Amino acid sequence: MIQDRKRSPYVKACVFMLYLIVALFVIMWVLPSALTNLGVPSDLVMWIEFAFGLLWFVVGGVRSFMIACPNCGRSLFIRHGFISVLWPPKRCSKCDLNLIEGDA
Ligand SMILES: [Zn+2]
Repeated sequence: MIQDRKRSPYVKACVFMLYLIVALFVIMWVLPSALTNLGVPSDLVMWIEFAFGLLWFVVGGVRSFMIACPNCGRSLFIRHGFISVLWPPKRCSKCDLNLIEGDA
């Protein structure tokens, strides 16, 4: 059972990934067209895109390391020692903790 007052690491990671996908969509498509509509020069739009893209990458990277297994502390987004998944696993890749229920 997923407790309401304390979300499981799996749910937290899923919500976080959804936010990242939405943010990427905004940065890639919504932001440049909005800026172009406002009359911002295309080379400046490119730099703003680059800045937001970098910010997205840094925030996404740091945050993904913070969503970790409550038992062994391994990041949900790390498998086999390096980041190889974009979607969190249902079980910890290191200690096999059930990350949906949040307890062993
Ligand atoms: Zn673990």
